Amino acid sequence: MAATPEADWVSRFADEVIAEAERRAPGKPIVCASGLSPSGPIHLGNLREVMTPHLVADEIRRRGHEVVHIISWDDYDRFRKVPAGIDESWAEHIGKPLTSVPAPAGSAYPNWAEHFKASMTESLAQLGVAHRGISQTQMYTSGAYQEQILLAMRERAKIDAVLDRYRTKGRTGAGAPQQGKLDEDEAAAAQEAAEGSGAAAEDDGTGATGYFPYKPYCSVCERDLTTVVAYDDDSTELTYTCQCGHTETVLLSEHRRGKLVWKVDWPMRWAYEGVVFEPSGVDHSSPGSSFQVGGQIVGEVFGAQQPIGPMYAFVGISGMAKMSSSKGGVPTPADALQIMEPPLLRWLYARRRPNQAFKVAFDQEIQRLYDEWDTLGRKVAEGTANAADTAAYSRAVGTAAGLLPVTPHPLPYRTLASIVDITTGDPEQTLRILRDLDPADPVASLDETRPRLDRAQHWITTQVPAEQRTRVLPEPDAALLAKLDDDQRESLRLLLAGLDGHWSLEGLTTLVYGVPKTRLGLPMDVKPTPELKVAQREFFALLYHLLVGRDTGPRLPTLLLAVGPDQVRALLTP
Ligand SMILES: [Zn+2]
Repeated sequence: MAATPEADWVSRFADEVIAEAERRAPGKPIVCASGLSPSGPIHLGNLREVMTPHLVADEIRRRGHEVVHIISWDDYDRFRKVPAGIDESWAEHIGKPLTSVPAPAGSAYPNWAEHFKASMTESLAQLGVAHRGISQTQMYTSGAYQEQILLAMRERAKIDAVLDRYRTKGRTGAGAPQQGKLDEDEAAAAQEAAEGSGAAAEDDGTGATGYFPYKPYCSVCERDLTTVVAYDDDSTELTYTCQCGHTETVLLSEHRRGKLVWKVDWPMRWAYEGVVFEPSGVDHSSPGSSFQVGGQIVGEVFGAQQPIGPMYAFVGISGMAKMSSSKGGVPTPADALQIMEPPLLRWLYARRRPNQAFKVAFDQEIQRLYDEWDTLGRKVAEGTANAADTAAYSRAVGTAAGLLPVTPHPLPYRTLASIVDITTGDPEQTLRILRDLDPADPVASLDETRPRLDRAQHWITTQVPAEQRTRVLPEPDAALLAKLDDDQRESLRLLLAGLDGHWSLEGLTTLVYGVPKTRLGLPMDVKPTPELKVAQREFFALLYHLLVGRDTGPRLPTLLLAVGPDQVRALLTP
């Protein structure tokens, strides 16, 4: 299934990137890039950093071009703070490279960075994101950037002058692009995303001893509490002091324990990798920010060009505040993939332009989202969806490498959620109800409703607060049943009499809406009148009270199927 060219934002960026790549480096593979910092759990908000270039690279690949999506792991960045939930003793590692910090207790991974990379890498595999991961620790410690480091040091006065053009304008933030008012959820996510990004408030290399864009990690304490105090361009002899008391003179041409400051590091990598497309978040795009400054440094120092780099809006999470997360903080892509299938998550990113904000739903909204997704799937199959919607759908369900796994028998998410809510996941009971849903297309085994069934079950058990869960009454509400008037008794009698002949989702829908029509002497195919709507609302409220002891609950046909005919009779017979 090929996406329609020109149909959506992904196609338009692909056009632009292909044209630019042919101009810059004809015949070479096209490079799209993302950067992630494994300084802690990688938040769902940062997934846009990956999905934007992924979708563009995938479109380029679908068109038959050679393309690589690189993900730079900023694992040689300093450990900046001990996150919530981690033992305070980790504070002694602040200032060390993330790959030199021990992994959290109980981890199977050799260090902090590897621990947090692993979960993200697993999520990217599930999402079908083909990429080449590049460890910055590996690059710096192997000496891959040696020439670039020596060049940056030689050109330090020029870099200092570029940075100085912005220093007088004050710190970043003043005049930064804003994307409207952020609500509480969005602000929290934006804060978390900014903390996780490489730009985070790093010094730009300015010191009392002059400007040096290279920052050594101390060879004794491993931390970056160092100051370069002397450097000789000819010999490359570099002397640094450390707050731990250590002073050392090294040959920079052979030194492997240090890195360029962020605002020089990023443009250096654009040049090194030949990046043509790399988007960035609003925190990187303000005046004087790393993207803007980098655009000048990459040309004036490294003789290359800035990538095409659209700014992307933050992605919020709805229902995040209520999340019962043991880890604290906002959810990760892995958390999202436990409550929704990969194509749905891909679709959220594919259908919105990067500068459009949106939210990933962890609350009740996920049910509506899944309904919308299923409706789109039907329209695409029928050929009635518009070009942009069809393109977004095709980007969601697969990549250039093929289709992602799907649920063979996809039942509505909200129906599955209601059923596992009531059965609390009991497999036998769940299968009985699923079989009854549609006798014309019966479910033969739970497996054919997976993984969607498992996602709905995980959502119900982890995201829906106890007071919103459905509890079927164990005994009839005798007091309420005794108070029923004749009309209510007759309505219940009609319902119970019709159960056997209507035992399917569709049949019970007809029945529960039909009982009030019969009581009002209206034909079954009548258009809803205000009087009928009132009668239906009252009848439904009565049923909810008698079945689950509340005003509302899951859709009644689903609820009746889930409760089962015997228990329905027991609870509804006066
Ligand atoms: Zn030291």
